[in-house]
Amino acid sequence: MTQMCLRYNAINLSQGTPAYQPPDEVKAAAIKAIQEGYNQYSITWGAPEFREAIAHKMNTFNGIPTDAAKNVTVTCGSTEGMLSALLAIINPGDEVIIFEPFYENYGPDTIISGAKPVYVPLQETQTDDGDMRFTYDRNELKEAFSSHTKAIILNTPNNPLGKVFTLDELHEIADLCEVYDCIAVTDEIYEHMIYDGGEHFSIGALPQMRNRTITVSGLSKTYSMTGWRLGYVVAPEVLTDAIRKMHDFLTVGAPHPLQRAGVASLNLPQQYYTDLIAKYDNNRQKLVKILTDADFRCHPPEGAYYIMTDISDFGFEDDTAFGHWLVKEIGVGGVPGSSFYSRPELGKTKFRFMFSIADDILDEVGERLMKIRSKI
Ligand code: PLP
Repeated sequence: MTQMCLRYNAINLSQGTPAYQPPDEVKAAAIKAIQEGYNQYSITWGAPEFREAIAHKMNTFNGIPTDAAKNVTVTCGSTEGMLSALLAIINPGDEVIIFEPFYENYGPDTIISGAKPVYVPLQETQTDDGDMRFTYDRNELKEAFSSHTKAIILNTPNNPLGKVFTLDELHEIADLCEVYDCIAVTDEIYEHMIYDGGEHFSIGALPQMRNRTITVSGLSKTYSMTGWRLGYVVAPEVLTDAIRKMHDFLTVGAPHPLQRAGVASLNLPQQYYTDLIAKYDNNRQKLVKILTDADFRCHPPEGAYYIMTDISDFGFEDDTAFGHWLVKEIGVGGVPGSSFYSRPELGKTKFRFMFSIADDILDEVGERLMKIRSKI
């Protein structure tokens, strides 16, 4: 979709690349680290001061008791973190449960590591307050677990739906992990982007999950530095040993000078996060209005920076046909929903837009999308 957007000069709301820059003091810390000579490999599982900063953040923000020496592995983005984690724990014949729709990498990661993916649908449901949110069916979740289940992948806040798992949902998942003796592998890369006063809960903070959770996160989204490739995995010591081996053989280590600057990111004051949420919330509200005014069916996401829409009212053959038409005729790009499902037909009425985008460009998106009805 990005290539098509470039070809047709369309506004690209497909890729999850932040429109912003890291704070100046963080950029300065990276330059300083290069000038001071941090230009060779760090310890393969991460520079000690960066691991210390991560451990501090895990203890205070996530509520997961973390020792920098025993529990933290710095990886090349959370992308590598997720794959190293799965490669470390999967044995032939294992199954991994994945909520669907899912961030595109989880399916391939599961298959590369030798496991069979088992999908559990997330459906739009009405809450008692009349709001719409994405939830799973309890029985469907229970039925997905078996003696073959090694892990369940969670993503909260979730891409592509913006779902934020509640404490009750995490307790329910934790109980099943205990019964079936399996591990929660949780991707929390959007943990700082939650709206309407909602709260981020880490399943690894539940006492019953201390020995069976692998938490994957990173700096890409929170500090607008997807190109720096800084991620990390926090896990019990015995799992960390295996994860560090996988990580060493896959990538050796994340960029050393950028890890030094990562410390400056993690030390930013609380105000940074307050401003971040305010900025994204403004974009969220604006894009929801633009999309509903243009006859997309959607509701405000609880977290992350994506809006999953329903496009069935536009009458296209499928999501891909709609996506191509939208780029060529309207000049806006998004991601066909089928990319987030195991079987394309499940997502053929869905289409995802992202809202990490400058304010004036969002205004232009609004003007362009208003032309949809007159062109169909
Ligand atoms: N996890 C999720 C849910 C994402 O949406 C993305 C990027 O879009 C990533 C992980 C990739 O993160 P990283 O840059 O840390 O590899």
